[in-house]
Amino acid sequence: MKSAFLKNISFNAVNLAASVCLIASAPLCAAVAPYARFEDGMLSRTRPAGWLAEVCRLQAEGLGGHPEALSYPYDTCLWNGKIPRMGKHGQDWWRYEQTAYYTDGLLRLGYATGNDAFVAKAVAGIDYTLANVSSEGYLGHPSLWDSKSYKLKKGYDMWPLAVFFRAMKAKYDAAPDERIPAALRRNFMNYKSGYISRVRNVVNVEGLLWTYSKTGDRKMLELAEEAWRVRKPRPPEKKNELAPVNCASDEAIHMHGVSYCEEMKVPVLLAAYTGKKEYLDQAVNVERKLVRDHMLPDGCPTSAERTLGNSVHLCHETCDVADYTWSLGYFLETTGEGSYADKIERCVFNAGFGAIGDDFRTLQYFSNLNQFIATSDSDHNPQNYGTTWMQYRPTHETECCAGNVTRIVPNYVSRMWLKDAKGCPVAALYGPSVADYGWATITEETRYPFDGKIVFRFSMKEPKASAFTYRVPGWCKSGASVKVNGESVAPAAPGKFAAIERTFKDGDVIELDFPMDVRFEKVPPRFVVNNKDLKRGIKRPADRFADASQGTVVCRGPLLFAYPIPSERTVDDVEHANMNGKKSGNSEFKCWNLRPAGAFNYALAAHKAEVVGDFSAGDGFFRNPGAVRLRVPVRRIEWNLAENRFTPDIPEKTVVLDGAEETIELVPYGSTMLRLGVFPDLSKQTFLGTVPKGG
Ligand SMILES: [Zn+2]
Repeated sequence: MKSAFLKNISFNAVNLAASVCLIASAPLCAAVAPYARFEDGMLSRTRPAGWLAEVCRLQAEGLGGHPEALSYPYDTCLWNGKIPRMGKHGQDWWRYEQTAYYTDGLLRLGYATGNDAFVAKAVAGIDYTLANVSSEGYLGHPSLWDSKSYKLKKGYDMWPLAVFFRAMKAKYDAAPDERIPAALRRNFMNYKSGYISRVRNVVNVEGLLWTYSKTGDRKMLELAEEAWRVRKPRPPEKKNELAPVNCASDEAIHMHGVSYCEEMKVPVLLAAYTGKKEYLDQAVNVERKLVRDHMLPDGCPTSAERTLGNSVHLCHETCDVADYTWSLGYFLETTGEGSYADKIERCVFNAGFGAIGDDFRTLQYFSNLNQFIATSDSDHNPQNYGTTWMQYRPTHETECCAGNVTRIVPNYVSRMWLKDAKGCPVAALYGPSVADYGWATITEETRYPFDGKIVFRFSMKEPKASAFTYRVPGWCKSGASVKVNGESVAPAAPGKFAAIERTFKDGDVIELDFPMDVRFEKVPPRFVVNNKDLKRGIKRPADRFADASQGTVVCRGPLLFAYPIPSERTVDDVEHANMNGKKSGNSEFKCWNLRPAGAFNYALAAHKAEVVGDFSAGDGFFRNPGAVRLRVPVRRIEWNLAENRFTPDIPEKTVVLDGAEETIELVPYGSTMLRLGVFPDLSKQTFLGTVPKGG
């Protein structure tokens, strides 16, 4: 038997020096992005299995397959016709942005699960759009254009098309449709670079570069580079867009969170298509600053709706989970750096599922690490304070998140399996699935992220020399093991990809094992960017924890673990004024008021945990999550709801109540609705009350 050998690949782009080496290397994937390490496009050849298939099923039976439950504008013709405006609600372009999110999620879920009805419904919108262009070739629904000038109306003019492009790309990836790049090319030829550079128009660089790759028209590449080059940031106090200058600086960026997450992909895509070091440096730097200044422990940056710093009391908008992880996918593909895959997993498994209600029938607009209450008046964010936005409900005042939430899981599946420069398999994000590479079918048997054991089984007709690239997650600092047909090989370093090169044959087995130790991660000190936007009466003493941790989160593998607070659940059928008369069009999809029906005022008494339950049997975020539990010691502290209706901030001083040490059980954060996710840490606080035993 040929012995397997392992080739470590120095894909390190953690620091800029390393990225210089990366970008100086020769073009690899000549067909698509010539300087990218990996390529996507495997979605229609990937089938989720196990817990992931169950989540896809719940999405299809829940919000994903029931647009009527989401209400307006999802209960319209979508992009397959003219979407009517609902009174004066929202801005004129919203309905096209929102339904473009939904069309993308619907199409990708259809491809991932073989649901032909979903595919057909989404493709009908693409066909309509391709068949209804202006004489000049403007693409997008005619209602977005001024009827006389045929110019797009004021606002984020080209933005809805940037969203819809992703659905068109998904269709092309599944089966090339040459009408798509031809129509995009004709459309983009109408625009000058200065116009493309404006606000979120610039996200169209994603479509411009893709069109360049499919048509070979260098004008597309030139427009993309020029749009980024001429882009100017606004004055610092009004900054609401990324530009080369602030991507290159060390200055914190304070802007609309979704825009940050969307626009950060522009320089990394330019790097992938041009190989220019300056673009990659900007991209790595701007993502680094987002993590440094705004990241929450559940893997998603704050956005409520601006990036307001890293206070664990601030929330993120659910759109950010979809947009941040989609952009990170391009960072992953371009650099081949494992840390970006780690970040996608952490964001989806925790922030993503944590914002989705049980049975995938509700979602939050804003979600938080600590959620002691979720009712129609419990939103504690500066934005829309005291309203429905933190409630689990199928309909929301602003509808973007309801469309975007349907992209989270399909986008994850889209990036699970990639190709390297030679078209060889890359297992980029982990989860139970089957991938068809044509010459081989690879079955990934695992309960990851609930368990660290992963088995890949190869099925093929003819032996073939190939590489197989896998990664060791960054959290697996030691003990990773890799076996090829039972024979151990040296594993990649933590956070790195590595390739196994051999002649693969039918029945080959690769086994990975990543020991999952329980980790107590200290949350970084609070950082507040700008207090001007903290308004509407919320009391938030800025910087008071400037030198201290904001508490501790409990992790195992890529998962956070949280205490599921017992809740009292009642249907909320009140017609709230801010909902503009919108109601779910499906009576089986309820709006919920969740109030705490048990204690939540716990602080960790020690950094120790007992693993209980059967981790190998954990079957998901929605079904039987209690199979996976961590038992931790806690003490009750003085910590109450604010004004009897808001989740309180982490207490400034920890006052320990009388009473014995208790033990509570934590479950995967993503499976919880009311939760305690960030624990005050007794050992780090000042005690004004009883000092616990041994404390
Ligand atoms: Zn949103």
